[in-house]
Amino acid sequence: MNEPALPDATDELLQRLQRFHADYFPLHQQRFQDLVAQGQHPKTLFIGCSDSRLVPYLLTGTGPGELFIVRNVGALVPPFDGSHGLHGTMAGIEFAVLQLHVQRIIVCGHSHCGAIRTAYEGAPEEAKALQSWLKLADEALLPVRPSPEALLRTEQRSVVLQLERLMDYPMVRREVEAGRLTLHGWHYVIEEGEVHVFDVQRGDFVPASLSSHSGTGPFPPYVEHDGQIISE
Ligand SMILES: [Zn+2]
Repeated sequence: MNEPALPDATDELLQRLQRFHADYFPLHQQRFQDLVAQGQHPKTLFIGCSDSRLVPYLLTGTGPGELFIVRNVGALVPPFDGSHGLHGTMAGIEFAVLQLHVQRIIVCGHSHCGAIRTAYEGAPEEAKALQSWLKLADEALLPVRPSPEALLRTEQRSVVLQLERLMDYPMVRREVEAGRLTLHGWHYVIEEGEVHVFDVQRGDFVPASLSSHSGTGPFPPYVEHDGQIISE
């Protein structure tokens, strides 16, 4: 039998893995084993930007089993085009809605988003997939120079745009219209430590500390692309 290899003292990732197993897991073992025995039943699909500063579990005070997470560059939702291609985000949405029956979908952008900045400035020449992907934010771009204020507005506009795209997913629309699913648009301002939630009545994002809800999403009531609210 082989002796266990001596751990590489300079391998920081290995140290973190060993710490998780030795320190964290024993304290929460029952929870993990329950989640295996009973399966996962998260109520929330969290679609967030991949940015390392956005930490969904911290923002929402959640832990294992509570969030089904899809992350990508920019927290973007591809249009539902029925192409059945290799669309990871689309597959994640279908899985969450049709198999997990989530009750909420959050789209969470954030301040200082590199994806939104790159959508204005252009991706590196070699990054063909990134160039194509960021076109999903095009409709949110403003015809101005990307000042800090313009970037923040664009980040927020992009969140609303993705919520609108979600409503083009037949299974999302069906569940929302049946009252079994709600959509929430969030914009996390890193330097304030606060999520601003989209309020469809005000047509704006409201700091969570001043809000009476966690975001109303664009539907219902229904919002057309010109921002006009149409009551049911
Ligand atoms: Zn980002």
